[in-house]
Amino acid sequence: MFDKIEQAGLSELHFKSDPAAQLKAIVAIHSTKLGPALGGCRCVPYPSDNDAIDDVIRLAKGMSYKAALAGVPQGGGKAVILKPDHIEDRVALYRAFGAFVDTLNGRYITAVDSGTQLSDMDEVHKETAFVSGCSSDGLDPSPVTAYGVYSGIKAALAHKRGHDNLKGVHVTLQGIGNVGWSLAEMLYQDGAKLTVADINPQPLQRCKKTFNATIVAPNNVYSTHCDIFSPCGLGGILNKKTIPLLRCEIVAGSANNQLATPNDGQLLHTLGILYAPDYVINAGGLIQVSLGQTQKSQHEIIEKTKIINKTLREIFIRSSLEDAPTNHIADQMAEALLNA
Ligand code: NAD
Repeated sequence: MFDKIEQAGLSELHFKSDPAAQLKAIVAIHSTKLGPALGGCRCVPYPSDNDAIDDVIRLAKGMSYKAALAGVPQGGGKAVILKPDHIEDRVALYRAFGAFVDTLNGRYITAVDSGTQLSDMDEVHKETAFVSGCSSDGLDPSPVTAYGVYSGIKAALAHKRGHDNLKGVHVTLQGIGNVGWSLAEMLYQDGAKLTVADINPQPLQRCKKTFNATIVAPNNVYSTHCDIFSPCGLGGILNKKTIPLLRCEIVAGSANNQLATPNDGQLLHTLGILYAPDYVINAGGLIQVSLGQTQKSQHEIIEKTKIINKTLREIFIRSSLEDAPTNHIADQMAEALLNA
């Protein structure tokens, strides 16, 4: 356990068990150097306690790097709830989780993530002030995340082609959920040609009707000839099997943990495919919940989100000059800020 903590450079790891509420939760705080640790709460089933520990540590570290490069005054933290087979009382579960978060006295601020909903955060909020994004505060992160990805795509295009005009540019989106749909809207408005894939047929038909998008089967998404592949569904999709199938110049999307391993970033680099590191390009939601807490206006939040375009341009230039993968450059830049 302590080896894992030390290897990740984690500062705190907290466990809570409350059998009456079916709560088994872990909070990892990677760093509070730049501000209170902010990161969502996942509620998903885990094969073992160790898998949950590994996940929360990895995610908390990722949040530190994300916040550092997004220029928001937050540290990195994350929570996981080990999802029971059957949740008997959802309200009790999230009230107990809220009470747990409150014991950390604001060093960790929670938010919605996979498997949790804004209504769950409403229950958390009854026990603690240290939550961002409830039904009442209107801090839906997805549209801002989509805007950040859109501006990151423009940065990648500018680097590859010397201009960022999306007219006629062919973008393939994997996953048309909250972020994917908003992103598709922005790209379509700029004249991009869209191809879409999802395991859920409903949003695909809407994309076809609204954006004149072409639909491909989920298995064929990697080998689709296009200019930009935009993963907005799930993680781990860039790996030894899928990368050689890619027929695009740029990979830029919202999904977390897109690279199965850091070495997959090297593979993309070797193939000349420009990869926008996930935690840099998808930081819009974090910017929204961080600035939203301090009552910043939507205009100010969108202005701040433009940092994503600037940071990615810097990463791409350094990657070219140093002949190094973009994910390595991003890690180096984040570590320099955290260790300063
Ligand atoms: P979502 O659940 O609304 O959408 C995900 C979509 O991906 C769904 O439509 C789902 O059917 C589809 N999908 C799942 N497996 C697929 C597969 N194998 N092939 C094709 N499609 C598949 O999630 P979201 O909020 O839109 O987030 C999308 C991604 O962006 C996630 O990885 C999330 O962690 C990441 N992210 C989201 C935010 C945010 O603000 N919502 C912020 C940062 C990162």
